[in-house]
Amino acid sequence: MASDVCSHVRVVVRVRPTTESEKTENCRSVVQVVDNHMLIFDPKEEDTSCFGSQRVRNKNINKRANKDLKFVFDQVFGEESTQDDLFEGTTKAVLDGVMNGFNCTVFAYGATGAGKTHTMLGAQNDPGVMYRTMTELFKRMEDAKEEKEFTVAFSYFEVYNEQIRDLLANIGPLAVREDSSKGVVVQGLTLHKPKSAAHILEALDTGNHNRTQHPTDMNANSSRSHAVFQIYLRQQDKTASLNPNACVAKLSLIDLAGSERASATNAKAARLREGANINKSLLALGNVINALADPKNKKTHIPYRDSKLTRLLKDSLGGNCRTVMIANVSPSSKSYDDTHNTLKYANRAKEIKSSLKSNVVSLDSHIGQYAVICEKQRQEIVQL
Ligand code: ADP
Ligand code: MG
Repeated sequence: MASDVCSHVRVVVRVRPTTESEKTENCRSVVQVVDNHMLIFDPKEEDTSCFGSQRVRNKNINKRANKDLKFVFDQVFGEESTQDDLFEGTTKAVLDGVMNGFNCTVFAYGATGAGKTHTMLGAQNDPGVMYRTMTELFKRMEDAKEEKEFTVAFSYFEVYNEQIRDLLANIGPLAVREDSSKGVVVQGLTLHKPKSAAHILEALDTGNHNRTQHPTDMNANSSRSHAVFQIYLRQQDKTASLNPNACVAKLSLIDLAGSERASATNAKAARLREGANINKSLLALGNVINALADPKNKKTHIPYRDSKLTRLLKDSLGGNCRTVMIANVSPSSKSYDDTHNTLKYANRAKEIKSSLKSNVVSLDSHIGQYAVICEKQRQEIVQL
């Protein structure tokens, strides 16, 4: 069985460009990208306004604490970064893991409006990580088709208010269970075979129309759900007739719900409950990340069960996986607290160490399972 000891969670930060409205409001920039690895939050330097000199108009927007906090990440993508830079610097390397049979996860974290959906899904004329991943996967399967037989399928669902909905079949709520051979399974979730990378784009588009969104004060199109796109890749060696092991790996690409505090969205009743569930799952995700990162934790208790999201990620976050976190931030002083919170969250995530093992399924083990089923049926027949 292939194994790969200890790889850490790769944490990158993407700073989105300032919007037109931020420019007209004369917000100052609170993020200074130093180089590919370092950024400064709320830098001391006077010359940080990229929008001219009349910045003191709104005290709240321009609050200047000069925290001057330096953060170092695996990679920092500045405002000029392209969708391709993001794919190349995050998910492309993860695909090596998937091709080797490891479960992998890439998630976009950040407040509403910070650029999560742009990064993961993107626009029709400038697609994001999800589409680019599929295109690259098709390419790699084509390159290796002489040696391996591949089966690929995908699903797309959301976790909203602790309930799971299939975004492609538009059905839900669906239950989660843990299967000893398949890992975490969403019951009744539809699996689709992609005909091409373009087909994926269409499916994602359909799925997004079914996604739960509610306008809040933060953003008219704020996503209140976590959208989970999963790709399942099964591969079997064509050449090794003596050792015909099959390998099944799962890649989860996740556009998380906005991480802003409920109070910031001026929410009422139903929105508050939503906000509480979003915070609960992001908090649970943070706790799982911290428990995995804590060198004193003997890994006996990782609180996966504290939310649907972490239950779903159980086989893809700790242990048997490779994980990339893309922390999306706005550079504007208007998002001062959100950007600060996201950077702190991302900083804690850097420490996760996980030991990996590849999901090689031996045909012997299948034969063993069939033998058990046959024996059970034989006994039932005897009892009749
Ligand atoms: P989120 O999903 O985090 O709420 P979005 O991805 O919807 O945020 O981004 C908010 C707005 O900013 C959208 O209009 C989006 O097109 C734009 N945007 C975000 N990131 C970028 C980027 N890197 N380059 C250009 N526009 C961006
Ligand atoms: Mg979004």
